[in-house]
Amino acid sequence: MRLLKGALAATAIAIAAFAHPAAAQDKGTVGIAMPTKSSARWISDGNSMVEQFEKAGYATDLQYAEDDIPNQLAQIENMITKGVNVLVIAAIDGTTLSNALANANAAGIKVIAYDRLIRDSEHVDYYATFDNFKVGVQQANTLVAGLEERFPDAQPWNVELFGGSPDDNNAYFFYNGAMSVLQPLIDSGKIAIASGQMGMDTVGTLRWDGSVAQARMDNLLSANYTDKQVHGVLSPYDGLSIGIISSLKGVGYGSGDQKMPIVSGQDAEVPSVKAILRGDQYSTIFKDTRELARVTVGMVNAVLGGGEPEINDTKTYDNGVKVVPSYLLEPVPVTAANWEEVLVGSGYYTQAQIQ
Ligand code: BGC
Repeated sequence: MRLLKGALAATAIAIAAFAHPAAAQDKGTVGIAMPTKSSARWISDGNSMVEQFEKAGYATDLQYAEDDIPNQLAQIENMITKGVNVLVIAAIDGTTLSNALANANAAGIKVIAYDRLIRDSEHVDYYATFDNFKVGVQQANTLVAGLEERFPDAQPWNVELFGGSPDDNNAYFFYNGAMSVLQPLIDSGKIAIASGQMGMDTVGTLRWDGSVAQARMDNLLSANYTDKQVHGVLSPYDGLSIGIISSLKGVGYGSGDQKMPIVSGQDAEVPSVKAILRGDQYSTIFKDTRELARVTVGMVNAVLGGGEPEINDTKTYDNGVKVVPSYLLEPVPVTAANWEEVLVGSGYYTQAQIQ
């Protein structure tokens, strides 16, 4: 009996060793600092990276900071102390990591900015992201297409603008991209901003917080739209769109003869794709987080192997100290017309998750 138990234990150890080959961690450890689990996209980013890094032979240390800046700083410092080989960081506040990155550099740890640029530090080696200006252009283009479709005779269209978090470099790119489309229409009188509220200083939404967007939309509606209709809202992120839509519904939009305004978004998160199918939200922007993970793994392989990663942009992302060499992926606009092809066709979601 004892022999049998011993043999079983040995087999179990052999199976365990086979399931987790030691080679899987031979290439070193990647510290992955993500901002928050409150948005599904960052969970997908984390999962895709862990999967792909492990497949490529790395160990991973994945941490989420629940949008708390000191928490993220502590997580990064801890990774440095533990001796990770490389850091992949999606910063909560892109301007608060300079000291931590100086420590990383002193320890010989390379740093990749993930999706969000890290500002004010020379120790950012590469940046993996999407074409963030184009995201904004696409948000505005879908907004205008929706206005033409739903409100063909209502010009000027009454539109309100929302921006992302002012501590996230991306927020300015989204806003500027969108305004490159909207400003000429404002100038020509096709679009009116009844509140007059424009510019990131005024329309930014700290920490991308949906409840902050909802409260601002409530105020915009009561101050400017008691005697007229709002036709469209530029929203840079699905989580804000949810707040904006519930504010709109709260005063009767989307029921009776009060048509739902056109609302944009970003990230193609499941509740928002469902909102698109219900007609509450008009569009979102799909950014394939599996692809972003793939690009990042490629960068890490190159950086640790002493090679040069593939980059396709050396001009756009000046972080205040240097222009960070970047790889920009293509964002894809999504509406009720193409969600299935883009999101299910690519295997990002199953049909059952959405319908
Ligand atoms: C990302 C967006 C996301 C937003 C809020 C931005 O930095 O690029 O995809 O919607 O943060 O999480």
